[in-house]
Amino acid sequence: DVVTRFAPSPTGFLHIGGARTALFNWLYARGRGGKFLLRIEDTDRARSTPEATAAILQGLAWLGLDHDGEVVSQFEGAARHAEVARQLLAEGKAYKCFSTQEEIAAFRETARAEGRSTLFRSPWRDAAPESHPEGDYVIRIKAPETGETVIHDQVQGDVTIRNDQLDDMVLLRSDGTPVYMLAVVVDDHDMGVTHVIRGDDHLNNAARQMMIYQAMGWAVPVWAHIPLIHGADGKKLSKRHGALGAQEYQAMGYPAAGMRNYLARLGWSHGDDEFFTDEQARDWFDLDGIGRSPARFDTKKLENLSGQHIALGDDAALRQEIEAYLEAAGLPALTSDQSDALERAMFCLKDRAKTFPELLEKAAFVLQSRPIQPDEKAQKALASVSDGILSELTPHLQSVSWTRDELESALNGFAEAKDTKFGKLAAPLRAALAGRSVTPSVFDMMLVLGKDESLARLSDAA
Ligand code: GLU
Repeated sequence: DVVTRFAPSPTGFLHIGGARTALFNWLYARGRGGKFLLRIEDTDRARSTPEATAAILQGLAWLGLDHDGEVVSQFEGAARHAEVARQLLAEGKAYKCFSTQEEIAAFRETARAEGRSTLFRSPWRDAAPESHPEGDYVIRIKAPETGETVIHDQVQGDVTIRNDQLDDMVLLRSDGTPVYMLAVVVDDHDMGVTHVIRGDDHLNNAARQMMIYQAMGWAVPVWAHIPLIHGADGKKLSKRHGALGAQEYQAMGYPAAGMRNYLARLGWSHGDDEFFTDEQARDWFDLDGIGRSPARFDTKKLENLSGQHIALGDDAALRQEIEAYLEAAGLPALTSDQSDALERAMFCLKDRAKTFPELLEKAAFVLQSRPIQPDEKAQKALASVSDGILSELTPHLQSVSWTRDELESALNGFAEAKDTKFGKLAAPLRAALAGRSVTPSVFDMMLVLGKDESLARLSDAA
């Protein structure tokens, strides 16, 4: 059975690249009835913070990337990691190295001066235990000295490393703490991880991790090292390109479904499909579709997909997500009346809104209460109609039963009687009803507002 994992280091917010890595692992597992595990790689005590862990969990929760089982803390597994190092020592696959930092530096200097490889070769590798001094030592793995190590990577293909380029990596430091590389392998093995999908900045680590798998006689997981994300200019994604934190996109008003769709397309493709549902993404996601070259972050595409997901969203779910967006953006919350009104109006707001702020802009008519304060454009629209026309219209609408058909024929009839077109009346009507020029259609607004409120707004503006 498939088991994937996301293994962030808690040193900051959930990076957009990390979110994409998590999504790929989640999709891969969810599409195969497998498990998606979460491990916090908090072994670097100086850089790991509980705030960062909380931020990462929040980011994942926003994106709906739910994990199976408990969150694993890598640091808490230190004793188990050390145990594996000791086991390799006992089996003669690792050794105690007593070389000091000074000796290692001196070794490198001589090697450099003599034009040899500066890869440290410990004199303790084959030393008899009787010759061991008292004092501090590290445990090093015995790296293979000849031959090659081949990483069968699902994205990069076979990657071959000459073994004479691998050093006898330290497994356990002199203070008894395990190194990160050991912790990753032991955790992945113990957690039963079958597929490791992660950034290709870890490809070099894979060769070293492979040594540990081989020494322990453990099955190597399927590796898929995915290219990093670049900015529109083809350079590695950085602050210059815009927001890097996944949750900043929540605060900008992108719906989680749109973000998932966009992130899935960032480095992975399924034919020409750009827009897809979560269900389709789960069904379609595979390792073959991951590209070998870095994906470029494209805000236009994100907006486009975001708009499509908003348009298809369920009204009540959108309402909830918009409330979460307001909170994330540090904006005032809606009152419960406003929130109810928003949901009632959702049908005419969600088309053609690329983000929640755009949707809320169109929702202004339903979020305000009388008297409506027209903005500048709306004031102009109101000034452009001949005097009295709105006050004439109001009684005309009094007797209309408030359905779309009736309203349409009443307004068209009124326009005709005034020797004009409905189109000419639309701008002042928008202005009177919403105080804005960008709004849903006049009919939609009137239907949402209801007869009394609509007529009151018209007479206010007349
Ligand atoms: N903790 C590593 C990172 O945040 C990931 C290691 C892994 O996926 O093997 O980059």
